Amino acid sequence: MKIAIIGAGAAGCFCAIELKRRIPSAQVDVYEAGRKPLAKVAITGGGRCNLTNSFEGISSLQEVYPRGANLMKRLFKSFNHEDTWRWFEGEGVRLVLQEDRCVFPVSQDAMEIVGTLSRRMRQEGVILHTGFKVTKLGRDCSTGAYSLEFEGHEPVTADKVVVTTGGSPREEGLGFLEGLELETVPPVPSLFTFNLSDREVRSLMGTVVEEATVSLAGTKFTASGPVLITHWGMSGPAILKLSSHAARHLADSAWRGRLLVNWLGIKESEVREMLAGMSRRHAQKLISNTHPEEIPSRLWTHLTAKSAVRQDARWAELGSKGMNKLVNSLVNDEYEITGKSRFKEEFVTCGGVALTNLDQNTLEAKKFPGLYFAGEVTDVDAVTGGFNLQTAWTMGYAVASAISSQD
Ligand SMILES: Cc1cc2nc3c(=O)[nH]c(=O)nc-3n(C[C@H](O)[C@H](O)[C@H](O)COP(=O)(O)OP(=O)(O)OC[C@H]3O[C@@H](n4cnc5c(N)ncnc54)[C@H](O)[C@@H]3O)c2cc1C
Repeated sequence: MKIAIIGAGAAGCFCAIELKRRIPSAQVDVYEAGRKPLAKVAITGGGRCNLTNSFEGISSLQEVYPRGANLMKRLFKSFNHEDTWRWFEGEGVRLVLQEDRCVFPVSQDAMEIVGTLSRRMRQEGVILHTGFKVTKLGRDCSTGAYSLEFEGHEPVTADKVVVTTGGSPREEGLGFLEGLELETVPPVPSLFTFNLSDREVRSLMGTVVEEATVSLAGTKFTASGPVLITHWGMSGPAILKLSSHAARHLADSAWRGRLLVNWLGIKESEVREMLAGMSRRHAQKLISNTHPEEIPSRLWTHLTAKSAVRQDARWAELGSKGMNKLVNSLVNDEYEITGKSRFKEEFVTCGGVALTNLDQNTLEAKKFPGLYFAGEVTDVDAVTGGFNLQTAWTMGYAVASAISSQD
């Protein structure tokens, strides 16, 4: 059996290894457009590779997989984060679970993951072809065989094809699949930070609030966690999560909208109670000098100014109107979003090959027997934290199991 894998990224390499282990007699060729395999894995997690997550405290996969949660739930039954841990430790990679539930190699070096996968591919006899960009994938209806055309190389044929070409924010990335008329979901970026027009808030760059809730006005999109104020707007885990869940909505509105920040991440009634307590305890103190401990003093100055609280006002002088304004600034602080920025170059793609094309157990294209898809090329993507690489390992594994069980 000749199996061609298109793309030597996380999903492609993992799938190739698992295929050769299960069907040693098969010829597994991996065709990679770039000069090296696993180039993206090498830069993951800021060069440290956050290869999975402990999934602790996640009650529903929708929280971390805005797209593809149901499919991932099904596939995790065969290969989940614990299997990933065992797999890499079985290859001699020691792993560490961080307090934030992210898993990294103890070496803190993504090249250890690249080296491990590359070595294992060689040992299993996977044939890697770098500099082979697939420009067209076709199928001979009479024989069921697939043909792959390349830029600058002779075409080849294969009995089975696994497409693992990763994400592409541009639709051309899927151009080589055109002849097959598969349903695709237009790709748009996910995981980005927000540019804000408000200069006052941007002047607070470097300010971090640990437990804020952010949402998009007029929508149901909301996310909680740390928020970092930057010189261009806002970043941090809560913003990235929001950008992921609202990726398509934001793309449709040209990355413009209104951001609402609840700086304390608690209900309005609780904030009101908290401020009333402060007002009683600190009646004679200046409001500008006495703030909830969760709110850094520079941000407090900004929020009190926004609420028209006088610099020399004492808590006893706040009054109910002042209280209402201050509560509103703390729970409904509104900013104009004017665009998006990259977060440490970590965009992932929302969209790609629609899941409706695929058998939910085998990831085989329903209309094209022998053609499989795995990884970010599909319409599955996650928030940050190791979930995207887990997708690549799990889907790569699922395809290898499916092909070997049909062998
Ligand atoms: C800077 C950065 C940091 C990240 N950090 C993390 C992290 O720490 N943890 C995490 O979970 N996720 C992280 N991600 C996301 C994660 O890297 C991806 O989701 C994951 O690599 C997807 O794996 P994949 O195999 O589907 O695609 P990729 O790893 O992108 O591999 C696809 C491969 O296909 C090749 N290819 C594309 N088109 C063709 C073609 N026509 N012919 C031949 N070859 C082709 C590409 O050159 C590429 O090598 C990060 C992403 C970025 C950009």
